Order: sequence, then structure tokens, then C-alpha cells
Amino acid sequence: PSAMREILLEVPKVYWSDIGGQQEIKQKLKESIEWPLQHPEAFLRLGIRPPKGILLYGPPGCSKTLMAKALATEAGLNFIAVKGPELFSKWVGESEKAVREVFRKARAASPSIVFFDEIDALTVKRGIGGEGGTSVADRVLSQLLNELDGIEPLVNVTIVAATNRPDIIDSALLRPGRIDRVLYVGPPDLQSRREIFKIQLKKMSHAKDVNLEELAIKTDGCSGAEIVAICQEAALLAMDEDLEAQEVRMDHFFKAITCFAHRITPEMIE
Ligand code: ATP
Repeated sequence: PSAMREILLEVPKVYWSDIGGQQEIKQKLKESIEWPLQHPEAFLRLGIRPPKGILLYGPPGCSKTLMAKALATEAGLNFIAVKGPELFSKWVGESEKAVREVFRKARAASPSIVFFDEIDALTVKRGIGGEGGTSVADRVLSQLLNELDGIEPLVNVTIVAATNRPDIIDSALLRPGRIDRVLYVGPPDLQSRREIFKIQLKKMSHAKDVNLEELAIKTDGCSGAEIVAICQEAALLAMDEDLEAQEVRMDHFFKAITCFAHRITPEMIE
């Protein structure tokens, strides 16, 4: 079977405005990826090298994938999404070939972004992988490093990698000239949570008593994904009450919030 089938080329449609809050991270991504693509001459003039890759790390559901997609959408880049564990486990023995294939495809589709989700599955520190010696893990990592160091240069191909476990990533991957920018994408702060609710509420008819500020305060510690789930739950509660429900009320939101156990635990936060 061909590993190619696992490599999805898509043109995502996620705009910066679809991502609530997280202003600082958006700004850093624009500076480090959009600017060099849009103003290459300025970078040349000032002697700065655009980053080849960037690592986004942080707890699940806090917009790492959305950020990567928005970068591609807003800068008009092709988007190649690869899930670390799929590439790794499905094609044992073929894993290095699959990595090569991803980069071949990325070059062919340039300007492009390769998004490696759960990259930790591909780049576990030597020794942690288990088998030791020349394990599959080591060979995949070597192949990845070869591609980044580029006998064939990576022109207009930017790597965005994501992980919840930056601590287990082999440091060789993070050396200068490789994935040398590392950004923490944390849980949304109060302002960001307000923005996420605002984006969601735009799509839901809701009662006048729904108060963004209060919702944001009550969801301290929730991820963006959890806030989206709370909104869905609130709408379902409204429907439960009355199938003909015209709007979602604040009490539905409150109820939805209380049935939500937080999945982000303190040790996931920096
Ligand atoms: P994982 O580590 O689990 O892959 P992630 O950090 O990549 O998580 P995303 O896939 O980007 O998280 O987010 C999951 C979903 O949560 C999104 O599809 C979106 O619905 C919602 N979401 C998360 N953060 C935000 C945000 N800041 N604004 C709007 N929606 C958000």
C-alpha cells in the first residue's frame, strides 16, 4: 500500500479572525512566517534568515492546528497535514520513505506548509523509543533531519510541528536551521475566552441575557475546544427542553459549564 494516501493536501479555510484571542501567538507567527514570504527582500537586506520550521507546543485543544491552518490560508500556502503516529506506526519499515514522500510533495506544492501534528511520535529522544540501536524511530528521525538540512533545499516550504510533549522531542530536531522556533500555545486567557465565545455566539441565536464576560470568567481553565463543546452542549440543552427552542439562554450555558470536567490539568500549563 502506498503511504501517499496518508498525506493530505488541502487548502484550509481558517482565517485569523476564526481564532479567538491568542493575539501574541498570532503576531509571532505572522512575523516569522508571513513576513518573510511577503517581504523576502527586506529579510535579505537585513540579513535575517526566515525560519525553516516552528514548533507549537501546549495542552490539547488550544488552537495549535487552527494556527497552522490560518497561516496557510492567510498567506495563500498549500497545506500538507501529517499525523506523526499514522506516519510512524502504519508504515513501519516504510516510515522513512513516507517522510521522504511528505517532503517531495511539499516541494512540489510550494509555497507550502507541512503540518506535523503529534510530531513527538516521530522524534522521540534516542533511547526512549525502546528498541535502541538503529530502531525505526532513529531512522525516521535521521530522515527528517536529512530533509530539513536539505541536500535539496527547502524553498518556500515551512514546517509547522505540534506537540503536547515537547520534553520528549529529540533536541537534534530543534537545532538552528531546523525547527528552531518554539512557541508555547497555552490555554486561552480571559480575553481569549471571551473572543472564542463571541465567535461561537455569532453562529447561534441566543437570548439577550447571555453575557460574554460572565461566560469567560466561569470557564477559567477551559481549552478553546472545551468552550466550543460547552456552546454545543448549551444548544442541545435548549433543544432538550423544547425542540422548537428559538434561542439558547444563559442558564443553558451555566448548566453546560457545570457538566464539563476540565481536561487540562495544571501540569500541562507552563
Ligand atoms: P490537539 O493538541 O488536541 O491537536 P490543538 O491545539 O491542535 O489540539 P485545535 O485542533 O486547533 O487544537 O483546536 C480544536 C478545536 O477547538 C478547534 O477546531 C476549534 O473548534 C476549537 N478552538 C480551540 N481554540 C480556539 C480558539 N482560540 N478560537 C476558536 N476556536 C478554538
